[in-house]
Amino acid sequence: MIIKKGSSKKRITVLFRWTGHATYTLSVLIGLLDEKLDTDKFTVRTAETEEEIIREARSDNLITVLAYSFCSPQFEDIKREIKLLKETLGPKLLIICGGPHTTALPEDVLKAGADVVFTGEAEESFPSFLNVLYENNGIPDEKIIRPKPLDDFDDYPPFAYKRGFFAPIEIRRGCTTGCAFCQTPRIFKNVKERSIGYISKYTRYLSDARRDAVYFLTPDALSYGSKDPIDLESLESMLKSIHGTDLKINLGNFPSEISPGKLARFRKRRQYLRSTWGTRRSCSADKAEATRS
Ligand code: SF4
Repeated sequence: MIIKKGSSKKRITVLFRWTGHATYTLSVLIGLLDEKLDTDKFTVRTAETEEEIIREARSDNLITVLAYSFCSPQFEDIKREIKLLKETLGPKLLIICGGPHTTALPEDVLKAGADVVFTGEAEESFPSFLNVLYENNGIPDEKIIRPKPLDDFDDYPPFAYKRGFFAPIEIRRGCTTGCAFCQTPRIFKNVKERSIGYISKYTRYLSDARRDAVYFLTPDALSYGSKDPIDLESLESMLKSIHGTDLKINLGNFPSEISPGKLARFRKRRQYLRSTWGTRRSCSADKAEATRS
């Protein structure tokens, strides 16, 4: 047990380790906690250096949680850092980890010194864990926290807009293609999408913040609004809902959000919607094309 049961309630500081990787994820997670946690109980911020983490964990009357989200190539560096921090701070610091590597190999990450690990999507499990940590004044017994179902995918912000820390808007999660090398269909069993209302609401936030473009995250942008076939009506309705601001619209880049197979089918049907290529010049052209009808 890291925090003594029965001690008086403390404020919890959640530090997200800023490594220069996973910046989109950090924007999503910080935005999530900004919405879901009570600001009287929690402070949420990033930490860029080990010294900063040590200083924070040693400060008086605080519970400090250090959160990592990382992919496999970063694991060895993070493992070294966890070891160093644990040797320096012992139980003063609660280390939690999530992200693709942790989802695939949670036991490895626990073995590396993490106190608690999260697998899969954490929009429900993460705030709920922190609230239990606060209420119980101690860490729950489970070391591997599994995802909880998300009732409404629109219920979670796509980025930390309250801090001006933006990221692409994730409009679809999950994929039906099932490529053998890819973790996505294995982590997310069902495909879910953000509604047009959601996309237009957060696009307005980008516009209000004077950003120059809106970007999307999705395994398959051309199928927005349908499970697999191209649904031009849904795609067009979504694009129309966000036109009218000064933002350039980047629906996706080839061959990432715009999948090669889907693009071939799209062209075959001789229907054209050029909102795809990702350069500044084409973004403007694409936006004009997408909004002409
Ligand atoms: S299409 Fe992309 S996201 Fe879908 S399974 Fe293949 S690689 Fe993964």
